[in-house]
Formats: sequence, C-alpha cells, structure tokens
Amino acid sequence: MTTATDVPAIEITGLRKSFGDHEVLKGIDLSVHPGEVVCVIGPSGSGKSTLLRTVNRLEEPTSGSLRIEGVDILDPDCDIDAVRTRIGMVFQQFNLFPHLDVMGNLTIAQRRVLKRGKAEAAETARAMLERVGLGDRGDAFPGQLSGGQQQRVAIARALSMNPDMMLFDEPTSALDPELVGEVLDVMKLLASEGMTMMVVTHEMGFAREVGDRLVFMDDGLIVEEGIPSEVLASPQHARTQAFLSKVL
Ligand code: ADP
Ligand code: MG
Repeated sequence: MTTATDVPAIEITGLRKSFGDHEVLKGIDLSVHPGEVVCVIGPSGSGKSTLLRTVNRLEEPTSGSLRIEGVDILDPDCDIDAVRTRIGMVFQQFNLFPHLDVMGNLTIAQRRVLKRGKAEAAETARAMLERVGLGDRGDAFPGQLSGGQQQRVAIARALSMNPDMMLFDEPTSALDPELVGEVLDVMKLLASEGMTMMVVTHEMGFAREVGDRLVFMDDGLIVEEGIPSEVLASPQHARTQAFLSKVL
C-alpha cells in the first residue's frame, strides 16, 4: 500500500543540465525521503550547486524529471512559486538584506509571499530566532553580526516560511573556523527534529554524524553513495578515494 510518507520529498530522475555545450549534470538519479539528511560532497566544479539550484528550478534542467512531494515541478502548469515556499535554501553567502534589521529579514517574505499579517509574521520570526539561539538579536542589522550569527539568521529566515525541506549549499564555507560549529549545531538540531535536508558540505564530521546518506559527485555524476561512515571509511570508487584522501 502506498501512503503519503512513501512519497519522496525530492525525486530526481535522469537529470541533465547544460550551460551552452558544457554538460554540467550528466544524468542524476537521487531521491530524498521525508526526514532524511542527504549530504553531498565532491570536487569544485562537479555540479553540486547546480544540482541543488535545480531542485527548486533556480536552474532549468535540460532534461530529466524532478518531483517535489510527488508534484512534477517541470510541468508547465506547475505553480513553481508555491513549491518554492516549501523549500528553504541557505547559501554560502548569507544573502541577508543589509538595509533591514534581523526581524525585517525574517518577516519580509512571510508578509509578501505568504501574505501573513504583521503580528503572525513577527511571532514566527521570534520563534525561529529562538531556535537558532538569537532570540535577543531581532533589532540588529546584518553588518553588526558575526558571520556565524548572520548564517544562523539566514537559516531562521528560511525556517520562518515553515518549509518542508531545507537545501544548504556549503553553509559554513565562508565562515572563520571558530564560527563553523555554531552553524553546524543549528543544522544538527534541525536534523534531530526531523527536517528533510540536502546539504552540500565539506564538513565530513557533520556528514558522518548527522547524514543519513552521503553522496559523492564528480564531473556531473553521482559516483558513489551510501551510509556516511561507510563511504568515508571505505570508499569503493577510485575517484571517491582520491577525493577523500585530499580532504580527510
Ligand atoms: P560545484 O558546486 O560542485 O563547485 P557548480 O554546480 O557550481 O559546481 O558548477 C559546475 C560547473 O558548471 C562548473 O564548471 C561551472 O563553471 C559551471 N557553471 C555553473 N553555473 C554556471 C552558469 N550559470 N553558466 C555557465 N556555467 C556554469
Ligand atoms: Mg558549489
């Protein structure tokens, strides 16, 4: 019997993407199930960001199929804006609005996109700031915060839309080493609460500890995937071995 929980949160099949005559994704098959944390690793230029961006159609795939919670988002009739509200995205560069304070950053899309009232948007924003440990920084402007705090604000902003899943693209890569932990801790908390997550990261400790699955990409393809501790301890493919020998 098929139940709602059998429907993958993200279902990618035969996905290809070219920029001009440069094929960057060469046939990706990947499903992420509700509550699952999938970490994606691989060398620079292997297509990780393009894959993540394709999931909410920030990039249009060249071919293949892409379903979010069972909905074919490549269907011309699909309301992609509605789908995007269910997918939170966090980038390496925090992309906060510098001229808005933290509360402004957390409420603007709730008001404009979800049409929430002022009080409801503010209440949600405050709750999400508490979750990321910044309940007292609602009045601060991004420039007054550390990189780690800004990234936690960016996570809280995404959470304020009450997404069903979160996509992270190297969320700690722009941070000074001493600020990485506080961001990873927030991501761990989300994972423990059952958030569906796809995380491009170079943090192998996080992948091992928090990931349910580790996917290694190289040159536009998934070369190897499995339980993180197993892939990290005994990679099967020569390209995975070569990559891990450089980063571990
Ligand atoms: P990764 O995130 O694994 O480093 P990317 O997905 O960013 O890899 O990039 C994969 C390849 O696609 C790279 O060769 C990159 O130069 C190319 N690429 C990415 N975005 C674009 C774009 N908008 N136009 C042209 N080429 C792009
Ligand atoms: Mg990238």
